Amino acid sequence: MKSPKYLIRPLVCELHPYVYGEQPKIKGLIKLNTNENPYPPSSKVLAAVKAAVDGRLRLYPNPTAQVLREKLAKLHGCHADNIIVGNGSDELLALATRAFVEPSVGQASSLSPSQQTKKSETGKMPVLRFSASTVQYFTPSYSLYPVLADIHGAARNAMPLRSDFSLPGVAELKRGRIWNFRAALTFVTTPNAPSGRGYSTRELDALCKAQRGVVVLDEAYVDFAEENALKLALKYPHVVVARTFSKAYSLCFQRVGYFVGHRDLIAALHKIRDSYNVNGLGQIAAEATLDDLPYYRANFKKVIATREWLSRELTKLGFRVLPSRTNFILARPPRFSAQVWLQSLRGQKVLVRWFDRPKVKDYLRITIGMAAEAKALVSAGRKLLW
Ligand code: PMP
Repeated sequence: MKSPKYLIRPLVCELHPYVYGEQPKIKGLIKLNTNENPYPPSSKVLAAVKAAVDGRLRLYPNPTAQVLREKLAKLHGCHADNIIVGNGSDELLALATRAFVEPSVGQASSLSPSQQTKKSETGKMPVLRFSASTVQYFTPSYSLYPVLADIHGAARNAMPLRSDFSLPGVAELKRGRIWNFRAALTFVTTPNAPSGRGYSTRELDALCKAQRGVVVLDEAYVDFAEENALKLALKYPHVVVARTFSKAYSLCFQRVGYFVGHRDLIAALHKIRDSYNVNGLGQIAAEATLDDLPYYRANFKKVIATREWLSRELTKLGFRVLPSRTNFILARPPRFSAQVWLQSLRGQKVLVRWFDRPKVKDYLRITIGMAAEAKALVSAGRKLLW
């Protein structure tokens, strides 16, 4: 049979999709590769979800996640109009790309900002309004951003973080001439993934202040950090904060994330989302989560304590562990390459993550699990070194 591939848009044919963490079905495996929370949802959340599994499943859920948005608004000191809930924060990152970025026809993602605004040969018209179709982010950060730009046919602008994964200051960004202060959309993973490094609200404020386009502060891991930048979403009309119930609130399975931002930006996102984008059980689980926050806050403390213990123990084994403000650590293993470590640990039924990407390919990204899982990882590491 003839392949129908010719029916697919060339842009889609050439796309490199997002690479998911492995979901293996190996008995007894310690899974530390996708930054899931090792603790289950609270018993009240499980009870609320179970109680909702009845004949009502035939009904559509609330289209705007109204009750959840109201609870979130109360929590964050804003109005429900400042909030949109998504099928995970991933959906909202994609919606932001579609709502705020013009697709560009001729791809020119490698152009510098000065080239991007270059006049045509007649000297009159800009070649392309590249800022309007530029999706910008630091590298390394969440690897979904370039994929979203590519899917949309937008230009990408990637700016390297400093070698210690800290954020370059505004003056440094200006001097470097790579960063585009007029990019339509800028994503900042804060705390950073995959390095785990935290950023202060002060430095994020300075960056937001300098940007002309929309800035999404992606705070997927912020509950494990010391500071959050939510107030910037309420201070600046062009700044949006992205949060998720996946990591800190043990709800990956339910797919619930949200944005907080100016009501006009949020209204634009509501316009283009699917009518019933957040499933009903997900809404109920997230609402019940907000009614039981002390349970989760106790879990953050346990994860942080295990993170600090694991960092110390791996350092003793000769790993270079970067300071983390998340529920994972980035650590450069001793003696063998990170790829060899990945395979060897897998052989001992411990699964971690390795990225074949510049700047991080000498490192393993290790999710913080239960204390016993962290101990098992350290024992496996010790075995491999002896
Ligand atoms: N942002 C970052 C930085 C992430 O690592 C993830 C999870 N891979 C997400 C957003 C998306 O999370 P979710 O879609 O589960 O809300």
